[in-house]
Amino acid sequence: MPSSRTLPARKRIALVAHDHKKSELIEWASYNKAVLSRHELYATGTTGKLIEECLDVPVRKLLSGPLGGDQQIGSLIAEGKIDVVIFFWDPMEALPHDPDIKALLRLCVVWNIPVASNRTSADFLLTSPLMHQDYAASLPDYSQYLSRKV
Ligand code: PGA
Repeated sequence: MPSSRTLPARKRIALVAHDHKKSELIEWASYNKAVLSRHELYATGTTGKLIEECLDVPVRKLLSGPLGGDQQIGSLIAEGKIDVVIFFWDPMEALPHDPDIKALLRLCVVWNIPVASNRTSADFLLTSPLMHQDYAASLPDYSQYLSRKV
């Protein structure tokens, strides 16, 4: 297994916002439209629809989060097809797809990709010069795990 994975200069960014956080994400995305347009955007269904409508930029829309969209993003991360996650999750409400949310956040850590869960983190992330250049994200050494005897 390789020891790193290249996050390309043109990032594949996944955007997700829970219902009470959607207006905040849309406002943030509108403010950052010029930068976001330089990358490839993915989103869960409803979030993606809103971003497309408000920003007039193309978004690859997956299923709505509770219907499997979060898991689709997790699957793309595992396949090396998502480089950055902006996920404004709601800290004040339990949601029916809590396990999916946890699984998505877990895979961001497993594959060592940048993830922002609030607006300040998203600002820091998006203004990093690394957003516009290739970056070798080191991968944890999973060899012992993979070669374990069961
Ligand atoms: P939505 O899903 O963009 O379809 O609303 C987000 C979520 O709840 O994970």
